[in-house]
Amino acid sequence: MDARHRVVIVGSGFGGLFAAKRLKRADADVTVISRVAHHTFQPLLYQVATGILSQGEIAPATREILRRHKNTSVLLGEVTEIDLTGRTVTSSVGPQRTVTPYDSLIVAAGAQTGYFGNDHFEPFAPGLKSIDDALELRARIFGAFELAELQAEPAEAEAWTTFVVVGGGPTGVELAGQIVELSRRTINRDFRRIDPSVSRVVLVEGGDGILSNFGPKQSLKAQQQLAKMGVDVRVQMLVQAVDDEGVEVRLRDGSTERIASRCVLWAAGVSASALGRQLAEQSGAGLDRAGRVQVNRDLTLPGHPEVFVIGDMIALNDLPGVAQVAMQGAKFSAGKIRARLEGKPEAAQFDYLDKGSMATISRFRAVANIGRLELRGFPAWCAWLFIHLLYLVGFQQKLSTMGHWAVAFVGRSRAERTFTLEQARGALTHERHARTPDPG
Ligand SMILES: Cc1cc2nc3c(=O)[nH]c(=O)nc-3n(C[C@H](O)[C@H](O)[C@H](O)COP(=O)(O)OP(=O)(O)OC[C@H]3O[C@@H](n4cnc5c(N)ncnc54)[C@H](O)[C@@H]3O)c2cc1C
Repeated sequence: MDARHRVVIVGSGFGGLFAAKRLKRADADVTVISRVAHHTFQPLLYQVATGILSQGEIAPATREILRRHKNTSVLLGEVTEIDLTGRTVTSSVGPQRTVTPYDSLIVAAGAQTGYFGNDHFEPFAPGLKSIDDALELRARIFGAFELAELQAEPAEAEAWTTFVVVGGGPTGVELAGQIVELSRRTINRDFRRIDPSVSRVVLVEGGDGILSNFGPKQSLKAQQQLAKMGVDVRVQMLVQAVDDEGVEVRLRDGSTERIASRCVLWAAGVSASALGRQLAEQSGAGLDRAGRVQVNRDLTLPGHPEVFVIGDMIALNDLPGVAQVAMQGAKFSAGKIRARLEGKPEAAQFDYLDKGSMATISRFRAVANIGRLELRGFPAWCAWLFIHLLYLVGFQQKLSTMGHWAVAFVGRSRAERTFTLEQARGALTHERHARTPDPG
């Protein structure tokens, strides 16, 4: 008798998790390997960073989500090597090394924060991609107010209460909006020496406007809304240096400006998982500038119909790095594997259905583009609320998220303000150390 077909899935994000879900009833043994033991709902990371939600609400254990999938195993491990010829995936946790063979492979290792060749910015301007990042940002944001309270010099206190968010995409806008709300609504009465409500939040964007993917009208409205809330939106500015003392930005006319800030957050770019390079080198597939793999139209690697690459790792038809691309790619690739196993005809190419995009600006305000419909303000925020609750994984998580939203949006409080100096990675004491690089 033939051995059962083995499917290995790399990653437990939107792509990996949805692929595993689609393979629940497949006649195959499925193994999900991920460097984290949870599924991260990245769109709400900024709420963990700003004390609204806890990490458990947006990152349930993968093992728990898949516990009813009798054909599925979940392994913790950083995938360091994919051997396309030997058809194995090597992963490790510390000295523990595991080699997992496969017949079909789905690689959904996502992306990481990208600094456009300036990786040395990272210790001074961390990004927001993982639960670790969110907890670090939370420690840096809440810690900055604590340090401001300790300063004798007003200029020093001002530098600690100046927040620079780099990148005017949805993540940058959401972070800037939440920091300003936090300072004006939540902690405004908690300090004795400083007044958090006069803290400065600067949103720096290199292009002509923020939220450029939403079109000029939405971009302008969002910018006006942020300005009304107190965010200093600075467009056509590129960050050219970041250090302990702040950022240096270059304007279009070539002049430079220095913004003194002890809390700089990076939301400006992404680069695909370094596993993409390995796959490209072995298969001859191309890579784009962000390290994304140029896959075939059916999401497979050239010469390897058994290997699918999905989600943030792919460069195909200018598809954006959004959750729907990963989820639909997962459904497509799992569907192809199932069709092969069942001897049914396979879909020839991946057709993406754009279901729209949205970003929150503050409580009760968002922008949403759904087809030709452009929503703003409260209706857009309601759409955002509904969609995020719908896709958040786990009933318990949805329930407690709603509770925390009521606390933060209807009330003025934030339930998750806990942070430690350890999480701030020395940012509050100026002892810098970089994160372990992605080994790919
Ligand atoms: C802050 C933020 C906000 C966002 N907001 C939105 C939004 O509002 N709407 C939207 O549609 N999209 C949003 N996105 C984008 C969306 O989250 C991504 O497009 C989506 O997560 C991509 O799914 P993926 O499966 O390709 O990668 P991910 O979801 O990133 O999953 C990658 C998985 O691979 C694992 N992994 C990575 N490398 C390795 C390795 N070497 N070995 C083992 N495991 C590995 C990771 O731990 C993770 O489990 C946001 C992203 C961020 C960061």
